[in-house]
Amino acid sequence: MLEADLPSHRPPGAPPSTTTLPRGRQVDFTGLSSPDRWKPEFAVPYNQRQIGSKVLISNDLGDWLLLTPAEFRDFVDGRPQPGEPLYEKLKHANFVAAEIDLHAQADRWRSKKQYLYHGPTLHAFVLTHRCNHGCQYCHSSIVGMERTDTDMSIEVAERGVDMAFQSTAWAITIEFQGGEPTANWDVLRHIVEYAKKKNIEAKKVLSFALVTNLSLMDDARLDFLLDSHVQLCTSLDGPADLHNKIRIFRGGNSHETVLGWMQKINQRYADMGLDKNQYRVEALPTITRPSLTRWKDIVDQFVEVGCRAIFLRKLDPFGFAAKSAKTLGYSMDEYLEFYVNAVDYIIELNRQGVQVMERHAAIMLNKILADEEPNYLDLRIPGGACIGQLGYAPDGSIYSSDEGRFVASMGDEMFKIGTVHDSYLDLMTNAGTRALVMAGLNDGQPDCVSCVYKPWCGQQVEYNYKTQGSLHGHMRDSTWCKNHKSIFDYLMHKLEAADERDMEMFRLWTTNRTLDHFIIE
Ligand code: SF4
Repeated sequence: MLEADLPSHRPPGAPPSTTTLPRGRQVDFTGLSSPDRWKPEFAVPYNQRQIGSKVLISNDLGDWLLLTPAEFRDFVDGRPQPGEPLYEKLKHANFVAAEIDLHAQADRWRSKKQYLYHGPTLHAFVLTHRCNHGCQYCHSSIVGMERTDTDMSIEVAERGVDMAFQSTAWAITIEFQGGEPTANWDVLRHIVEYAKKKNIEAKKVLSFALVTNLSLMDDARLDFLLDSHVQLCTSLDGPADLHNKIRIFRGGNSHETVLGWMQKINQRYADMGLDKNQYRVEALPTITRPSLTRWKDIVDQFVEVGCRAIFLRKLDPFGFAAKSAKTLGYSMDEYLEFYVNAVDYIIELNRQGVQVMERHAAIMLNKILADEEPNYLDLRIPGGACIGQLGYAPDGSIYSSDEGRFVASMGDEMFKIGTVHDSYLDLMTNAGTRALVMAGLNDGQPDCVSCVYKPWCGQQVEYNYKTQGSLHGHMRDSTWCKNHKSIFDYLMHKLEAADERDMEMFRLWTTNRTLDHFIIE
């Protein structure tokens, strides 16, 4: 029988697995297929899915267990009795309705959902559309370096910072995006100084992040960025041939430039006495068709430059990337095969003593193993649109997110929720904002509501809209869903088979250390 036939207290109709991963021998659940078998007086609401030869169950609080088929049958029938090992296991994991400590669980829920109690934390400023690279997958509406008319002005920048500081969030991050944001250096510098000055009164936990190709970096700029505690993030697609093939830089060798500056910046962090295991330039690869067979080379390149984390990002469906889909694109199955190969290799390296993690897996494991909510905006409910982040365009338009701004760069203003000249109240309470937030809930999604991964998953309304023409999307056919479900499946298979050494490694991946140096109090 398929897992869709498994009993559920939820409306029947959960889709069969879409995972490309190897499945265990199908467990015979004959006789358990009727939802009538569920005993609400015994079990809290739960969802289930077959993982190998086990049955994964999860509840809305984020607890989970892998049960044998026999244990699962007893659970469904409400047979376990107090004192029996299975009962105690279920009780400990909050699956026995009569044993739930409501106050403790309310506290736990409140703590994990604390992002609902305040406004957007991430404020992405697009300082210019200019860039000196012509990356084939670029998802922003880049223009040539002579187009200074696409730069954000000082006036718009100040209004944007004023808006960001009105967020009810106690902590805000101002992130510089582009184009190549350092092309509009004077405004970048002004924003940092203006925001720091404002923060003397506002007293928020303030931080800055710069996403840069590093090609316009020089020593004076680096001094300013390091003195101002700006966190640096760059793009690195792998070894030189792969990186330079996609990230075309007519002014020089992009790979050589990136590696040279990464090395220099990491050395400067060390010279400042910062822990070299924590303080490093963050580098992100974008996976394209030529990357698919190069998973080992990509991981090796990141390890070689000293990165401790790799975020294996698949191509976005936004902007230029969509136009280049024929040469750079791939199916979700092809991406997932790449992902599994790469993460298997990362795990193997860890077993050999190399400390490196895959960021997406680490975020998911953080939720599953550490019972924490890392507030990663693509994997939370509601999604990050409007109430987790805002995207500020050079002309002063404000979008639901950076992705909302990408959609606008393709000529569709669907995600514009206001401008820097509006009041914060109008921005956050207008009908468009509310609709985007409501669409980012997975409790209202027909497939999510009966999905075992619901407590840890999330929605991105911009992705749904771009790929399926609807803010809500249709998860059964969604590549968003397939990607997340398959990676959750992969991790659950790993957890099912993990020995103590593997568990130690996964726990290490979930250890979050605050990078205090980048926080400006
Ligand atoms: S989007 Fe996430 S929660 Fe919804 S069905 Fe897919 S994997 Fe499950």
